[in-house]
Amino acid sequence: MPRLASLQSLYRLCRSSSYLPVASVTQASSCYQQHIRSLETMASDKLKAAEHLKGLEGSVWVEFVKLATEEKAINLGQGFPDFAPPNSVTQALTEIIAPGSNPLMSQYTRSYGHARLVNAIAAMYTKFMGREVDPMTGVLVSVGAYGSLYYAINSHVNPGDEVIIIEPFFDCYEPMVRMARGVPRFIALKPTNKTEGVTSTKDFTLDINELRGLFNSKTKAIIVNNPNNPLGKLFTREELTEIADLCKEHDVICISDEVYEHLVYDDNKFTRIATLPDMWDRTITVCSAGKIFSATGWKLGWSIGPQHLIKNCQTLHQNCVYTCPTLIQEAVARGLEIEFSRLGQPECYFLELPRELQEKRDKMAKILRECNLTPIIPDGGYFMMAQYGHLGVDVSQYGDGPQDYKMVRYLTKTQGVATIPCSAFYSADHKSLGEPYIRFCFIKDDCTIDKAAEKLKAFSKSLKA
Ligand code: PMP
Ligand code: GLN
Repeated sequence: MPRLASLQSLYRLCRSSSYLPVASVTQASSCYQQHIRSLETMASDKLKAAEHLKGLEGSVWVEFVKLATEEKAINLGQGFPDFAPPNSVTQALTEIIAPGSNPLMSQYTRSYGHARLVNAIAAMYTKFMGREVDPMTGVLVSVGAYGSLYYAINSHVNPGDEVIIIEPFFDCYEPMVRMARGVPRFIALKPTNKTEGVTSTKDFTLDINELRGLFNSKTKAIIVNNPNNPLGKLFTREELTEIADLCKEHDVICISDEVYEHLVYDDNKFTRIATLPDMWDRTITVCSAGKIFSATGWKLGWSIGPQHLIKNCQTLHQNCVYTCPTLIQEAVARGLEIEFSRLGQPECYFLELPRELQEKRDKMAKILRECNLTPIIPDGGYFMMAQYGHLGVDVSQYGDGPQDYKMVRYLTKTQGVATIPCSAFYSADHKSLGEPYIRFCFIKDDCTIDKAAEKLKAFSKSLKA
């Protein structure tokens, strides 16, 4: 059988040549077509996705970001601010790229993290963790917190290892565990049976006996998201201590996703699980510059932890991403230096942002209540789950899947307000727990929230009429 390349050139030659007899052209052409067909048949097997991607094709973000864009809806769905990041980082970025500035800022930098950035991170988390964080061996800079989560999971989980995930959970945890051929084991936070209904994230608690039942000799890791997305729950010190005790008893790694670390409201206290007794050595803490600086599109994150865990993440990183964008790392480094120098002062962005967000949270809660939606008031993060059942709308015509998916499609298409369905944050067996809720993002300009309020109020009024 002639090689494909020679067939291709023969085919091209035949088609362009007026000297070859027509019969030869036809023969070569049909031979080439036949060869392509046989390649396609073989390809149907060889070009298939790897086994570990099976079942991971759908993404709530891909579907609903597209829908919000197509419908030009007011976007209270995907979690991103529609206002500018603070000057501490935007000004830095402008200066770094200005004509005549250091040209090396446009070139590769250190693989595990730009030196100025890891130094700034280490200085800051040395304070937050109450222990020395080494900039070179205790920090890894990644493409967003997504990158850090992927490294933490894929550099430790072996096929068959179990990873405990607390529901509702940020949806990428499950596919990341599956890509590592690990086995996710789920435990849902349970709402207390209050007669007047669940309205606070404090009403969602972790059943420690159920959790204990999930730990066994195959358990490799647990993923804790504190403050939690989408619920906005802050885990109490007591809850974290119970999780920590089980980790120590069963020699398990704790992956603590703390991307909303500064976004804590009222008098609530945020505890970092890595700071609990003997937890540092088994915890990887995951953070996001995108969340810290309201710059989600900058896609920069980092992992912090002991050298024996971070070095495994570094091995994975050096072989797939190698290094993150230098410009962004330098700007985030300068931003952290500035904010760290005014830590605890009202103008520090780590205090300014939650102060503003608490007002937005309260504003959003009031609007939702006025519209006959029942919000669960978050203690942290920038999302609010709300029950929509009282509206009593028929959404059966709005596509497939769980009721909340249909409700979100309905609201986006008919009312021009985009949200996110909460069953996306539950495993297949527990989808019904998330189905009564949709998630509203409140890190939005007040005028965006007002516009959404206008639409939602008019909608709710039309239902009563
Ligand atoms: N963890 C949680 C809980 C999140 O909500 C998100 C999304 N913002 C991420 C991780 C990913 O963050 P990043 O955009 O920095 O990759
Ligand atoms: N973390 C953000 C959210 O929960 C965005 C996630 C994403 O777009 N993949 O909305």
